Amino acid sequence: MPRCSKSYRHCVAKNKKLCPYHRSPGEIKIARMLNANKLKYRIEQSLPYLEGDKAPLRFDFAVVNKDGQIRWVIEYDGHFHYEGHAAQQTKEQFEKQARYDRRKDAFCQRTGLPLIRIPYWLEHQLTIDMLIPSTSDYVINV
Ligand SMILES: [Zn+2]
Repeated sequence: MPRCSKSYRHCVAKNKKLCPYHRSPGEIKIARMLNANKLKYRIEQSLPYLEGDKAPLRFDFAVVNKDGQIRWVIEYDGHFHYEGHAAQQTKEQFEKQARYDRRKDAFCQRTGLPLIRIPYWLEHQLTIDMLIPSTSDYVINV
């Protein structure tokens, strides 16, 4: 895989395409599946009133209609979202991650925006059904 010249932070925050060097294979796979099923989406979607401590929180994917309006959002939860699943993660980092995840969940609950959370261990069993609220077992609200 070609190395990306940007820092992770810069690439992920600013790049509107999924970078194969900085993005996980699971995220790339979700993107390919949405493409194959002609679902339009944006990545790194921020929304008004959804803030982290220093910057807006962002959803990995926002599936949109042809007018660009958001239909639902998808999070791919990598190792860092599960305590003890990422060796290099400190307890403080995990707790911040968990706090942000809960904040996103609450935001979607409150606004009625369907949120799908795909855990990383499903990477190899991923199907399009899992990515669409009407057929997914991984919708966390509504
Ligand atoms: Zn990159």
